[in-house]
Amino acid sequence: MNIFVLNCGSSSLKWQIIDTDLEMIKDDSDKMLAKGLVERVGSQSLITYEVVGGKKVKMTEALRDHKAALNHVIKWITSAEAKIPGINDLSDIAAVGHRGVHGAERFKRSAKIDKEVIAGIEDCIPLAPLHNPANLKGIYAAQEIFGPSLPQAVVFDTSFHSTMPEETYLYAVPYQLYRRFKIRKYGFHGTSHRFIAYRYRKLNDLERDQVNVITLHLGNGCSACAVKNGQSLDTSMGLTPLEGLMMGTRSGDIDPTVIEFLVHNEGISVEEAFNLLNKRSGLLGISGLTNDMRELIDEEREHQDRRATLAIDMFCNRVKKYIGAYIAEMNGADAICFTGGIGENSVEIRKRACQDLEALGIKIDIKLNEQAVCGKEMKISTEDSKVAIYVIPTNEELLIARDTLRVVLNAPRVW
Ligand code: ADP
Repeated sequence: MNIFVLNCGSSSLKWQIIDTDLEMIKDDSDKMLAKGLVERVGSQSLITYEVVGGKKVKMTEALRDHKAALNHVIKWITSAEAKIPGINDLSDIAAVGHRGVHGAERFKRSAKIDKEVIAGIEDCIPLAPLHNPANLKGIYAAQEIFGPSLPQAVVFDTSFHSTMPEETYLYAVPYQLYRRFKIRKYGFHGTSHRFIAYRYRKLNDLERDQVNVITLHLGNGCSACAVKNGQSLDTSMGLTPLEGLMMGTRSGDIDPTVIEFLVHNEGISVEEAFNLLNKRSGLLGISGLTNDMRELIDEEREHQDRRATLAIDMFCNRVKKYIGAYIAEMNGADAICFTGGIGENSVEIRKRACQDLEALGIKIDIKLNEQAVCGKEMKISTEDSKVAIYVIPTNEELLIARDTLRVVLNAPRVW
């Protein structure tokens, strides 16, 4: 069955077509057929299309909204030029799966889209004012273009963390604020953390409740998750993705008083202060150079740039702190799993983040670590490391496609 996976941002639209069915899921043979990206929706859009094993096409065109962008995509995938195996017209798409960002307390699982689900996503808008309206635009566009009879599902970034207990998801602020506004930790990257925990389980032939791992999603956005007995026990992102690890442009954990200080002393508004913490902090803020980890590592190596080194050291230090905290919170972990652009590719960051953690039984194998690049899935700890270390490439789109299939068929979820 071909599932069209759609990920709509405020001015972008990412898609993949994934061929999957229940048998293919069992032996991991489901696969991506084509993918693409439309950036700068609303103005002169940059469009990239790629068929697996085929050509990559780039073009620009004025696309005024998400519906126009999706129309462009659909026209292309069904054109003779694309030649996607098994796709000739729209009827070859069996379902659409949307990436949903914020499902709050309402969506503990992926859901088949109907009027009630759409109303639920709307209700979550105050918690995700940028992301949820973009998700809705994608859903409305897909409904119009594919027609009302094509089943659609939504897979939320927050759902995996819905198992967190009160003592980890509550902030220590007056309890009434939780009652009135649902102010609490929700966590994000849930689809990625869930996928990594699932792959770890498969690699080690375990039952779901035997999975006790710390998953580290280190990309532009970064988050850690303590997975205990197969469920999210704690995660580093909070009410919004700003909390937790240091990221490309986000500060991560910070004393909230910094905001008041900035408002009074820098003469900026609360909004501008948050913009600074979200967009001008993290690796970019400390290095003053870039939010791109690869560039920072190059700067350090080639020019011994002091602030590039400082940014990298701070980043690794924060990762270590969360590893330590989660090992304590979980009463021991069996493995640490790295994923995301940095986690999957950066030999240097994995080495520095795992350095000097022998006291916790964590020992990285330098040689194996060096081999784990270019999408390799492998163990990189020494034989005698008490806690195993893995590199596991994430694949959120695959999980969205699988969940969509199951929701549409009403089949039980494996994970
Ligand atoms: P996003 O969170 O936007 O999906 P990615 O998961 O693609 O981002 O991660 C992007 C980050 O991964 C960037 O900081 C990039 O520099 C980093 N990265 C990718 N490849 C490497 C590499 N070989 N070494 C170090 N960092 C890398």
